[in-house]
Amino acid sequence: MHELSMAESLIGILVDEARNHGIVSIKKVKLQVGELAAVVPDSLTFCFELVSRDTIAEGAVLEIENVPIVAHCDRCDLTFKIQDSVFQCPRCEEPVFELLSGRELSVTSIEGETGE
Ligand SMILES: [Zn+2]
Repeated sequence: MHELSMAESLIGILVDEARNHGIVSIKKVKLQVGELAAVVPDSLTFCFELVSRDTIAEGAVLEIENVPIVAHCDRCDLTFKIQDSVFQCPRCEEPVFELLSGRELSVTSIEGETGE
């Protein structure tokens, strides 16, 4: 299950980040997920609830923001969004190999309580 391994690596990132910022209990996490990562948000949330048990991220709310796949055509210098997995320039029909975004799984913010 794709989302389960993702949720596990996410916990690893969160625990490290929280420790760096003195957070003892994570309440809310904002994530950016590229469309190419093919994550089902409900499924990721479900897996996250499973793997976060007994960690400092237990009960944290995930806010998932989808990032569209954006590509650039070298031939006509057009930047455009990829839709329906068509990796081709809509203007000159050149195949596209350069993707500017769409693969990311990144944590953009963590809210929580510090131990003070
Ligand atoms: Zn083009």
